[in-house]
Amino acid sequence: MQPQTYILPIDRSANPVIERWVKDGQLRATDEQLPGTNGRVYALSPALLSTVCAADDFHLNVGRERIGVPIYRMPEWEYSSIVRASDTFHQHRIAHLIQPLLVSQQVFQADRWIANVIDAVAGAPLVGPQPLTVGEQWSDDGRFVPEATRLIRRHAFWMLQLGFELPPTRDLDGHGLVLGIDVGLRPLVTVALEGDGSWATGGIVRFTPAIWRQLSVAAIAAGVDTVLVKRTARLLRYSAARELIEEGFLVPVAQTARAVVAERLNYAGFERHIVRQMREEAIRDFLTAWLPQRLHAWGIQFVPTDPAFTSRDCSRIGCNHRNHPSEEEERIEIFVCELCGHSMNIHANAALNILRRGLPEVRG
Ligand SMILES: [Zn+2]
Repeated sequence: MQPQTYILPIDRSANPVIERWVKDGQLRATDEQLPGTNGRVYALSPALLSTVCAADDFHLNVGRERIGVPIYRMPEWEYSSIVRASDTFHQHRIAHLIQPLLVSQQVFQADRWIANVIDAVAGAPLVGPQPLTVGEQWSDDGRFVPEATRLIRRHAFWMLQLGFELPPTRDLDGHGLVLGIDVGLRPLVTVALEGDGSWATGGIVRFTPAIWRQLSVAAIAAGVDTVLVKRTARLLRYSAARELIEEGFLVPVAQTARAVVAERLNYAGFERHIVRQMREEAIRDFLTAWLPQRLHAWGIQFVPTDPAFTSRDCSRIGCNHRNHPSEEEERIEIFVCELCGHSMNIHANAALNILRRGLPEVRG
């Protein structure tokens, strides 16, 4: 069985180590072509390959070196597979700090949460192959395949490919809906189904600049490394988003969809669109990497569409009027068409527009 692969960026601080491996033949250039990447692919020597494992959420062990790789930025199966293969994996005891970030929970108490993050980071990490920051649902089925590890060079940047054996999830019996999805922070994902049904996942707590400042102030007051505290807060938000996306969206999709339509994202789009809307790392990774890769593995068609005006156009068939929603409408999350009076949830309206735009490209 061909392993599924996932690609992550490598921190530039590792460049001198990697160049040394190339020089002394531990890394060998190959003619391999990896889908979705246009860079030179390097294979690791058997000696290096046998050492590849996760050191912590932000580092990979290779040989005697620790290189900066955001391990935590993988979907749940892949993440938990490599952690379970890594006996010396370090993680602070932070799993209980994920739930408070889900907006369906009680009111978010920032002061208390921040104090708990500081406590957790100040304490000794837990060492062992335990993926603490993921839910239970997916965790036991995948397997990390070290032999599929590759390094990829693009100009001065290096990327890492990791390989996994993942079980198929698709239940093909009697389903075959086309879904349109809109992503945001609250809810994280809104899904429109053919035939006007819809559902939404929960959302995650919005971090204001004040919360980030408060994290720094509290870290300094406690004498704890500020960088580590902020990184841990990001990791926790990422883990909360991953849990919602995997369990609230990808599990149902695996059972029901024959095609999924989503907004096409590119870097130009990020500056303009994503940053402004405060969409964050997990959502970006989800749209650009997890979703297309998962759907491909499950044999579900992925249809990216033009993201422009999806939240302003009226989704009522025959209308399509381009609206200028008021701040009040956005605040209460209700879309009202200025032309035909059609009214519905603002995210469901966007998801429906995305679905309609993609439908002509869905294979019979
Ligand atoms: Zn209308």
